[in-house]
Amino acid sequence: MTLIKTEALVLKTIHFQETSSIVKLFTKEQGKISVIAKGARRLKSALRGYLEPLNHIEAIYYYKITRDIQTLSKVDLLQSFFLNTLDIECNIYGTAVLEVIDKVVYDHQYDNKIFNLAVQILKNIDLHANQCRILFADFLLALADILGYKLDPSVCSQCKTRLTTAIYNPGSGRLVCRDCGRYNSSTHKLSEREIQLLNDLSRCNLDTGVNLSVEPSVANRITQLLIKYLSYHLDYPLNLKSLSLLSELSR
Ligand SMILES: [Zn+2]
Repeated sequence: MTLIKTEALVLKTIHFQETSSIVKLFTKEQGKISVIAKGARRLKSALRGYLEPLNHIEAIYYYKITRDIQTLSKVDLLQSFFLNTLDIECNIYGTAVLEVIDKVVYDHQYDNKIFNLAVQILKNIDLHANQCRILFADFLLALADILGYKLDPSVCSQCKTRLTTAIYNPGSGRLVCRDCGRYNSSTHKLSEREIQLLNDLSRCNLDTGVNLSVEPSVANRITQLLIKYLSYHLDYPLNLKSLSLLSELSR
């Protein structure tokens, strides 16, 4: 048995027995793991309150390769995201970041880059709540790149001419120009503004991305495209419950 100390994001917590919790963590050192937090729900537990989703923590746990669930020993809170905001939308986008991580990262898949990206994007959404939609799109774009499915919004994937507007080809999971896509039945057309924005996002890093001031409808369309794009390349639908909740709320 090894004692592991690592930064982690709390993805999910469920009650277990009378006073314990099972916590799904996305750790920096070992990827996604589950731990049992014994007695965490007791009033005097040192773990109490630290194991909420959207908390960035430092966790110490006992690791045994033959176990599915590891044993949590100690937790320090590094940051609790969205504590100071009542903005439900940015909370939902924060939760959507966790949901995407949970769906695309395999158990024990170690990926430092995805971890750093997730923490950075949550910090940015927390700081710039009014830009949460486009920051979420930025997250999906950067994630596709890390997973090996980099989207190139600058040129047509078929004839290589520079894209001003584009059509998303759902059969190949790529962007093509109007000419190459003229027999394409895809309804997902991208306007000049949307292509421009995708190019800006893929050029700038997350820290400067927040300077982009974007209309909500444009950010939503880009997010929808990126979800389709990721679903195609992952080979399973990336249905996000948090975002369906958002569309219900806005009705
Ligand atoms: Zn073309």
